[in-house]
Order: sequence, then structure tokens, then C-alpha cells
Amino acid sequence: MKEFNFEVENIDRKTTHIEPNPVPEGKDPVEHFNELLESWNKDYPNDRRKLIKVIGETGVRYCSLEKVNYFTISRGDDIYDLMSCKNCGLVFQRFGLGQNFSNYKICKPHLVCNKCNKIFANSAGLNAHNKRGNHKLPNWYPDGV
Ligand SMILES: [Zn+2]
Ligand SMILES: [Zn+2]
Repeated sequence: MKEFNFEVENIDRKTTHIEPNPVPEGKDPVEHFNELLESWNKDYPNDRRKLIKVIGETGVRYCSLEKVNYFTISRGDDIYDLMSCKNCGLVFQRFGLGQNFSNYKICKPHLVCNKCNKIFANSAGLNAHNKRGNHKLPNWYPDGV
């Protein structure tokens, strides 16, 4: 999933601003953003917005998450689904409805240790980690992913 910059007009305030927004894979940015604006304008009739133009990609990529498990997993009090990213291979737990889960996680495959299902803040951290070689997957991590 890629992020694009959109130039947006605040119709009522007569101002414009630039708004970065992720666009789902295979979706047209204009179509996607207009759908967002349509529901925004319904929710905020006093702050209506209009797309002026797509400026271009910001270079930020988001994880392309897919559900891994066929059935929802239940362990103790926890009920969750597992989402995995096609690009970096990270696996996330998505807990039951009502709990926040953002589908928009910034994807940095070069900073991920897949032996630990962990993302590092920078490559120095990842390199030091690989040197130590002390890999461990979280205990909720599924077998055979
Ligand atoms: Zn990813
Ligand atoms: Zn590791």
C-alpha cells in the first residue's frame, strides 16, 4: 500500500492544504480519495472538502496485510486474527471488534527481523541484533507461517 499527497480544498473556509493518505493496492488514488471525502462531507457538513489534485507518491509504504488464519483464534481471554504483510513478512495480532487496529502500518522490510517478528528503529539496531543472534519469536506467533 502506497501513500500519496493530495491537495484538498476546504470549500467553506476557502483554504487549501496538502494531505498524505494511504491508497489501497490496486485502487485509483482519485477514486479512493473521493470516496473518503464523500463520507467526510456527510459527517462534517460545515467543513466540506474537495479534491483539487493528486500531487504524487510520498514514498511511504504501508504493510499489505492479509488475514493468515482461517478461523478466528481464541486463547484464554484473547480472541484475535493474525494479519501478515506480503512485503516485510511481519505478523500482527488483530484483536476482536471494538479494539483499535490500524491497517496502516508503515512497512520497512529492510528493518525487520523475521526470526523475531520484530521491526527495528534503524539499521544499526537491526545489525547489532543480528550480531547477537539471539532470535526469539513471540509466544503467540503461529506455526508454519
Ligand atoms: Zn510490511
Ligand atoms: Zn531476530
